[in-house]
Amino acid sequence: MKIEERKGNLQLKNNGALEIVFIGTGTAFSKVLYNNNLIIIKGNTHILVDFGFNAPVSLNQNTGLTPMDIEAFLPTHSHADHIGGVEYLALFNRYVGTRTFNKPQLKLITTKEYQKIFWNNSIKGGLEWNEANNEGKMKLNDYFDVHLAESIPSRYRTKYKFNFEGIELEFFGTNHIPDTAKTQKKAFISYGLFIDNKVMFTGDTKFDKSLLDIYADNSELIFHDCSLEGNPVHASLDELRTLPVEWKKKMYLMHYGDEWAKYKINDFAGFAREGVRYIFD
Ligand SMILES: [Zn+2]
Repeated sequence: MKIEERKGNLQLKNNGALEIVFIGTGTAFSKVLYNNNLIIIKGNTHILVDFGFNAPVSLNQNTGLTPMDIEAFLPTHSHADHIGGVEYLALFNRYVGTRTFNKPQLKLITTKEYQKIFWNNSIKGGLEWNEANNEGKMKLNDYFDVHLAESIPSRYRTKYKFNFEGIELEFFGTNHIPDTAKTQKKAFISYGLFIDNKVMFTGDTKFDKSLLDIYADNSELIFHDCSLEGNPVHASLDELRTLPVEWKKKMYLMHYGDEWAKYKINDFAGFAREGVRYIFD
């Protein structure tokens, strides 16, 4: 893996190498860092993973892109630092962009279990009614071209797989909320991703060694969420320090607080940085 600084606007096409760019690496409460959201690029394909409440700004600041450049979106879970910008994304496509009204072109990659919750509990309020309502209420697929991942039977953890135009994705459920959920299957829906059989992106999760036991050895690199202090619904830095040395050496911390620079983390690969290109040859 090599890290390259971005020169000019981020290019959403490359020579076919897997590439990951964070548009933000902060917690939900950061005032300096942006929401922990990222873009996966490979060949002619890209996927925006999460679009939080400050992502309309961070997308521009850290990539130079606009929402009209984005062709596919994947939400990990319902917290606002992950999906708070989705109404903006959907309405920008409808009103500011030149995409057709009648045939939504923004692709949504999600699961059958999450698509209804995503629409009904999070975004329907701002999107259901608009100028077109003489034709009936708007629905999720009026805004998005929905692509559903395929369930993988698994006893202890929810899993899905999806090959999106050459990017191999495995969704895995994480044990993020509530703090009392003892296992992933008792927790509310939240996904992480195993990307192209080489990069583990945990999404939001409590410290969960059983999750790392599945993917860490097979990962070239791990992006793990990290609360710098103790936290009931996120893995903390102290908890992550208890992991095997060989996992920590390839682990970049993400979803961290503004005071990150005060922390010495020489046992890890580093803090993930906003706006730079992580390229996997
Ligand atoms: Zn969360």
